[in-house]
Amino acid sequence: MSIPSDLDISRSTALKPLDEVAAQLGLGPHLLEPYGRDVAKISLDAIDELADRPAARYVVVSAITPTPLGEGKTTTTVGLGQALRHLGKRSAVAVRQPSMGPTFGIKGGAAGGGYSQVVPMESLNLHLTGDMHAVTAAHNLLAAMLDNHLHKGNALGIDPHRITWRRVLDVNDRDLRNIVTGLGGRADGTPRQTGFDITAASEVMAVLALSTSLQDMRRRLGRIVVGYTRRGEPVTAEQLKAAGAMTVIMREALKPNLMQTTENTPVLIHAGPFGNIAHGNSSVVADRIATRCADYVVTEAGFGADMGAERFFNIKCRTSGLRPDAAVLVATVRALKAHSGRYKVVAGRPLPPEMLAENPDDVLAGADNLRKQIDNIRLHGVSPVVAVNAFPTDHPSEHDAIRQVAEAEGARVAVSNHYLEGGKGAVDLAEAVVEAAEEPSRFELLYPDSADLRTKIETIATKVYGASGVSYQPAAAKALDDYEANGFGELPVCIAKTHLSLSSDPTLLGAPTGWTLPVREVRASVGAGFVYPICGEMRTMPGLGSHPAAERIDIDEHGQIVGLS
Ligand code: ADP
Ligand code: MG
Repeated sequence: MSIPSDLDISRSTALKPLDEVAAQLGLGPHLLEPYGRDVAKISLDAIDELADRPAARYVVVSAITPTPLGEGKTTTTVGLGQALRHLGKRSAVAVRQPSMGPTFGIKGGAAGGGYSQVVPMESLNLHLTGDMHAVTAAHNLLAAMLDNHLHKGNALGIDPHRITWRRVLDVNDRDLRNIVTGLGGRADGTPRQTGFDITAASEVMAVLALSTSLQDMRRRLGRIVVGYTRRGEPVTAEQLKAAGAMTVIMREALKPNLMQTTENTPVLIHAGPFGNIAHGNSSVVADRIATRCADYVVTEAGFGADMGAERFFNIKCRTSGLRPDAAVLVATVRALKAHSGRYKVVAGRPLPPEMLAENPDDVLAGADNLRKQIDNIRLHGVSPVVAVNAFPTDHPSEHDAIRQVAEAEGARVAVSNHYLEGGKGAVDLAEAVVEAAEEPSRFELLYPDSADLRTKIETIATKVYGASGVSYQPAAAKALDDYEANGFGELPVCIAKTHLSLSSDPTLLGAPTGWTLPVREVRASVGAGFVYPICGEMRTMPGLGSHPAAERIDIDEHGQIVGLS
């Protein structure tokens, strides 16, 4: 079956004026700051003004361990938000802002898909209201002030070899990964090796996502550690007197962006931190506002439940104080077949044709991953709901296989057809989510702030990932000792590992056991508020492929964008 392209579906949507979209949330026009016709920022006054309203049920959408193609968390998040309105619930969706790097790289748009999209997709995927650019500017101002400090005499005694603050850009540009700055003459700075990361990987982005208010963002920016002195003491943005100006640059960016779905459901788009070296969740501010404006707030957490949902619970909810009422676990036939180990799925390539044949046994052969991810939600006292994201190429017997596994685990399960049918295709899922969310929440954090960093890492590795233990390279062990000594031991941890396996080895499918999590290095995002152990190679600046999406993106003779999806 062929359906129109995402861009065509987006363009054919009858958009509602944003004040009508906001009115569905009980947000008056005085709280809206229009940015063009299709997007408005929501004033931060909403936080105090709405504080007495009842809290919404709070639902996180996560997934089983995905294939490199993605299993449809964003489409399911949008589809569920739409479907809840079919049940007469006031719903709001809260998701991350896509990064332009991948938009012009491998992915095209990232606004959901089919009839469950955030629209207009051109606005969402390209610039939006400039928050990404603000993050880039604030980040690079700090870098410039740091280099200027070195150039002007280095009064703080910063060790040029221990500077951790790099520069960022929202373009996939591998040639900037490693660079030397300060070349030229004496007046042109101090030569040193550094590099660029993509803006989504900036700690300023993680700060934006985790700040609870403007003043809180100011404090977090001030706490950012840019490097160390020769005696090993951390040097902060506050000490460089940069945090005030960074906050001024970020002031507008802290306001969430209001858009709508293909069915005019309100969507808050806000922040886009990376899912490996950062926590991969949309903003706390957007959720604080949305949970006072709706009966249900549906938000997406990046990657599989071992990563996105674990960080949603233990980093985002720890910071915001919000308590989740249910967690949706997106499962697909293709991912479970891939977990059987019988097929190889490669990013940017079509599925191997033999994967499309009817084969419920392959689905069952990969089901351990689903079982473990259900368990990972329950570890936090939250009710899991398995959403079978239906693809046009699936067979009913394969959906039944997933249903059978979920039911045997005692989890609610529904097949969801939101991609082809919009909200009405996800009504069964919405009903299951409402049932789960109406149960009393027994949410609990996996570990207390007071546990030491090694205990936190080992708890996640053994309980969530299924590792038998953790090993530390000497540099990692030293960093952990230093961080404890510097007072960063109270922070939660955000383990950077592959999202393609429950383990740290992307080739281990299903639910591997009997392996050890190797911690190679540990870094700290003290401002954002987490320590991140690195297990394996982590790319923080993507490159472009042989034929990047940018080659297909253009303007036609009517001035319309083509090639975005
Ligand atoms: P995630 O958020 O988990 O990475 P997305 O929602 O972005 O996943 O979906 C990944 C890709 O798969 C997108 O290109 C999306 O359009 C496509 N997709 C998702 N769900 C379906 C579906 N049910 N049928 C067909 N394509 C789908
Ligand atoms: Mg997504």
